Amino acid sequence: MPNDGHAYTEARRHALRGLLAHADLSALLVTKPVNVRYLTGFTGSYGALLLLHDRTLFFTDGRYRHQAAAEVPGAEVVLAPGDLVGAVGGVVRAGGNGLGFEPAGLTWGEGQRLRSGLPGQAVMAAPPLVEELREVKDERELAAMREAARLGGEALEGLLPALREGVTERQVAVDLELAMRRLGADGLAFETIVAFGEQAAEPHHHPGDRPLAAGDWIKLDFGARVDGYCADMTRTAVLGRASQRQRDLYELVRGAQAAGLACLEAGVPAGEVDRACRQPIAEAGLGDSFPHPTGHGIGLEIHEAPRLRSGSRERVAAGTPVTIEPGVYLPGFGGVRIEDLVVARPGGHELLTTTPKELLEL
Ligand code: ZN
Ligand code: ZN
Repeated sequence: MPNDGHAYTEARRHALRGLLAHADLSALLVTKPVNVRYLTGFTGSYGALLLLHDRTLFFTDGRYRHQAAAEVPGAEVVLAPGDLVGAVGGVVRAGGNGLGFEPAGLTWGEGQRLRSGLPGQAVMAAPPLVEELREVKDERELAAMREAARLGGEALEGLLPALREGVTERQVAVDLELAMRRLGADGLAFETIVAFGEQAAEPHHHPGDRPLAAGDWIKLDFGARVDGYCADMTRTAVLGRASQRQRDLYELVRGAQAAGLACLEAGVPAGEVDRACRQPIAEAGLGDSFPHPTGHGIGLEIHEAPRLRSGSRERVAAGTPVTIEPGVYLPGFGGVRIEDLVVARPGGHELLTTTPKELLEL
């Protein structure tokens, strides 16, 4: 289906050609599906892109002949049923030296076959150039993520009345996922996490048959996908009136999350955001109970660069979406995580998650 995204994918391929020159590569074979989609807009399951200085070749098979012609109009489409590596070798033999491939996008055997098919030529594992490009999003990508975040918030709001005594984690997860699909998500960003009561002490609890009871924590971590782009948010609530200890823990994490957000702006080192978030939790003597990084980049994949982790000097560039998600987990008692999806902007940030963060007592 023709779309208006071709100018974007062409600009991305142009930028990638610039990176190739720096990496001393005359050609790059892109086979990681998510990278192929990023550079071409192709949404089928069998496609590879060969980027040369002056040519763009798109390899697929007969099933996608028409889809490729429509979705990847700027490329020469080569049908290579079953033997992608052989077809690529045939083209590259005629072109320059220095072919890079994506080590994460080929099997070891395919990599070997690519090498042996091009004797005398430099064939090498390329650095993650496309991943580097993907870190900063254009406005079209951010619009998809904004919509995915909005859907998630709306799905959560609709779910609140169903959070009643006796409902199980699994039922809530299914309801939340269904709500996101009904509201227009084209999929889920990842498997929904629902944890009740003491189970909230597990950062990544798999929803089970635990029924919800009065006084329980309710921790929900979930995200919709729109146009391939992920959202990711976590909210923690309590069924009924929260105890003082629950309230104190919640406010500690909320303060930490706010400190992380306040620190996020274009150009800030990733490790500094992590430090800002971690500091109030450490001061409360609970540093060891916050065992994961503060956040992560996100886009076509749920976890992308940059990672907001301790000591990282990588700078968060303008237009980079990241999560800020401190958590404190206390075995036997439960845990609190609050996670927003947010975009670094010059001098500040844009929150894509707009769901309120006051402690919800349902
Ligand atoms: Zn999450
Ligand atoms: Zn996350």
